[in-house]
Amino acid sequence: MSPTSGPGSGSPTTPAAADPATRGPVAFKAACPDCQARFELDAGALRLAIGGSRRTTFYSFTCPECGASVRKPAGERIVELLTGGGVSTLRSI
Ligand SMILES: [Zn+2]
Repeated sequence: MSPTSGPGSGSPTTPAAADPATRGPVAFKAACPDCQARFELDAGALRLAIGGSRRTTFYSFTCPECGASVRKPAGERIVELLTGGGVSTLRSI
């Protein structure tokens, strides 16, 4: 008796990376002004403060490289980006 070979042993695997609607944690690119490090932060590592004026609207994070607390002004676009990405928002007066 001859051994029966299985049906086509070459099933193509479809790459799932071509999905336009990418789910999962959103990564925000940021840079540290202290140590010049560049890194990506997820929504949980960022804090957004929305105040009454542009001066009191900013986002902050802690540099994973040197541990410095960084605070940067957040424009309308950044605010939309961060809130849309699930960053916790603080309302300051
Ligand atoms: Zn740093």
